[in-house]
Amino acid sequence: MSTEVPTEQWAQVIDKTGGPVEYRKIAVPTPGPDEVLVNIKYTGVCHTDLHALNGDWPLAVKLPLVGGHEGAGIVVAKGELVKDVQIGDHAGVKWLNGSCLQCDFCQQADEPLCPKPELSGYTVDGTFQQYCVAKAAHIARLPKDMALDAVAPILCAGITVYKGLKESGVKPGQWAAIVGAGGGLGSLALQYAKAMGVRTIAIDTGDSKRKMTSELGAEVFVDFATSKNLVADVQAATADGRGPHVVILVAVNEKPFQQAAEYVRPRGTVICIGMPAGAYLKAPVFETVVKMIRIQGSYVGNRRDGAEAIDFFARGLVKCPYQVVGLSELPMVYEKMKQGEIAGRYVLDTSR
Ligand code: NAD
Ligand code: ZN
Repeated sequence: MSTEVPTEQWAQVIDKTGGPVEYRKIAVPTPGPDEVLVNIKYTGVCHTDLHALNGDWPLAVKLPLVGGHEGAGIVVAKGELVKDVQIGDHAGVKWLNGSCLQCDFCQQADEPLCPKPELSGYTVDGTFQQYCVAKAAHIARLPKDMALDAVAPILCAGITVYKGLKESGVKPGQWAAIVGAGGGLGSLALQYAKAMGVRTIAIDTGDSKRKMTSELGAEVFVDFATSKNLVADVQAATADGRGPHVVILVAVNEKPFQQAAEYVRPRGTVICIGMPAGAYLKAPVFETVVKMIRIQGSYVGNRRDGAEAIDFFARGLVKCPYQVVGLSELPMVYEKMKQGEIAGRYVLDTSR
């Protein structure tokens, strides 16, 4: 069952880790019985895609690989077992392309913890192509009046930080430090936090990120590159000087993962989301004990978290600042990402 689908398409492909990434024509894949084929219109570029290109995580990537996992588009074909998705529906392809749906974790809606996950743009081909296959059970359902370019960054960055904030247990009126606040995940974390009634401290560097984070609702900006005493500055930013109740780590650098336990408030929670290559957490045991600190990881979100995160976007509460460029310009985006120059997200238009 399908509409007009070409046999060839444009894609960004890597043949070996480290690159280069090559813009070339490849075959359009065919969906399996429980899968859909999505004509990707727009796809965000997440820092995870750069980790995949570099092969810098202790998890092997599929090669050759089409990266990308923030794809928004239209369903153009489906397998015979797919009953609840129709041709023409709008859909999002997320990091979790598929999971077994049967294991202990899937049964309890912890499907990111499934031992046999399929990861878009990592273990299966992702959204840096015009036609992408995904398991029907896992696609994000998007209303037809939703802008496909603006929603793209919600499909990974939005869901992930929304989930991280929920996992943290932060309450309205409390403070959250968002570390890496000027990036794709960080700029959305500021907005989800604000929508939940949470006050935020943005930590990042440079004037453009200072300006952007303030526009997105951060009450305080701490520049990690120029601060003489980051721990003191972050603590001083909270009303009583005892530090933020929650720290959301979305930076791609090890140092803040070593600092967060120092400035988090007693009884506070540190949520690790960013995954700098080869990095380790470090916290002083004495302070961790006597301050009763909690340190926890948070990994994307389940299907319900996805639907909720998209609903915040639908209601106009969150929107990632983004620029659109052609799919062919992906190498330029990676270059800027390496330099830490991207405020918000780049979104790729797959038609050019
Ligand atoms: P990004 O490049 O858009 O943003 C990272 C930001 O961190 C930049 O603004 C940079 O200036 C800032 N930064 C660098 N060093 C810093 C420091 N010392 N202190 C404060 N800020 C600092 O990246 P992104 O797309 O937002 O992704 C962030 C990280 O999150 C990546 O490692 C990515 O792989 C990871 N990620 C994790 C999950 C998950 O489920 N846990 C999901 C998506 C992405
Ligand atoms: Zn991502």
